[in-house]
Amino acid sequence: MQAYEWQCHVCRHSNSAARDTCSACGFAAAARGKDILLKRAAQADAAEAAPPASSDSVNLTELVAYLPLWRRILAYVGLMVSGAGGIWWKFAWTMPSYGSAFLMVAGGLLLVGLAAGRKTAPSPPP
Ligand SMILES: [Zn+2]
Repeated sequence: MQAYEWQCHVCRHSNSAARDTCSACGFAAAARGKDILLKRAAQADAAEAAPPASSDSVNLTELVAYLPLWRRILAYVGLMVSGAGGIWWKFAWTMPSYGSAFLMVAGGLLLVGLAAGRKTAPSPPP
């Protein structure tokens, strides 16, 4: 048995000689170079993938929190209208129903877009 501490190949954590896997990330003390590279790449991917997802939800929450009341109401109404249109779409069998379902979805999303828009007044689509 090795009598010295060893450093994890992946996360650089120092582990006691008694362990044969990293106490921080569980990676084996003796590993092939390919495995080390794969593990590092997987960790890098996870590190890159995690922050944007969390920051997106934070941004959305902040966005809603700082919106004026009328914009929030407009956004909720838009979401409800587009959601109802989506449900209607599932049950719509005739072409006119498809048309109105599409208008509800599009109109609702447009309302959300207007409500969540920038400070400048949104211009209607051409
Ligand atoms: Zn480790």
